[in-house]
Amino acid sequence: DYADLLSSDYYIDRKQIQMIDLLGNGQFGEVYRGILKTNQKLEVNIAIKTCKMQDATTTETFLDEAYVMQQFDHPHIIKLIGVCIEQPVLLIMELSRLGELRSYLVANRADFDLITLIIYCEQLASALAYLESKKFVHRDIAARNVLVSNHECVKLADFGLSRRLTLENSYYKASKGKLPIRWMAPESINFRRFTHLSDVWMFAVCIWEILTMGKKPFQSIPNADVIDQIEKGIRLPLPSVCCPKSLYDLMNDCWSYEPTSRPNFIEIEERLKSILKDEKMN
Ligand code: ADP
Repeated sequence: DYADLLSSDYYIDRKQIQMIDLLGNGQFGEVYRGILKTNQKLEVNIAIKTCKMQDATTTETFLDEAYVMQQFDHPHIIKLIGVCIEQPVLLIMELSRLGELRSYLVANRADFDLITLIIYCEQLASALAYLESKKFVHRDIAARNVLVSNHECVKLADFGLSRRLTLENSYYKASKGKLPIRWMAPESINFRRFTHLSDVWMFAVCIWEILTMGKKPFQSIPNADVIDQIEKGIRLPLPSVCCPKSLYDLMNDCWSYEPTSRPNFIEIEERLKSILKDEKMN
């Protein structure tokens, strides 16, 4: 029962919530911007996820994300604020004012400098190193799942697919369903095998999206052919906007066919820090 999994500290009374406008459409239903009135008469900006279907199975899957999110406390991971547990169930999160990273990059193409782009990568690497330390695999790392809080700060969101790995379960075997093929590691495409090291592969695709300011990976190749390209050793090209060689080298290390040849998130974070330092000196 989901009520057992979710700390009652997170229960919110619907009367405290005011919906303001539509932010977007999620997998389960609309997402709204709103305000939460707390006991101290404080008002907090929030994002509200709704769930269209109200049957027990859908509700439980919908609330999985809240259950996962309540376990995290990191400056670059969207925070869960609470849930309305009575139907229609709502999930209340910290609001990211500037929305999805991918559209933000596309809309502001002209205004970005390389340093800001590398800062985003470094912030996400720190979030992912934190997730790795908590034994979580995200499974859907992509620029569409990163939100922009302000121009200097991005946050990882969308924990609908994430899973905790345990000792008995050192990888997660996904069931059939819609999967983000263009972002996925070869072992995930071939065997539906998801680990920290497949998250590393996906993260490098996300870095590529950031450095190309929102290009679609393998744009001209149909989903079904992506795995052939990867098995032939073909990888995403060097992003044209003055991407440092050290950064493209890092991406290629993350795209090693053999998962154990890839760096882990601690190493990735360190390498990004040093790339950032070099760029700042230029
Ligand atoms: P789902 O995972 O169910 O598909 P998303 O998390 O992608 O739903 O949310 C749908 C849209 O709502 C996103 O594309 C984004 O524009 C918006 N959104 C979601 N969460 C937030 C948030 N915390 N702050 C701002 N916008 C958000």
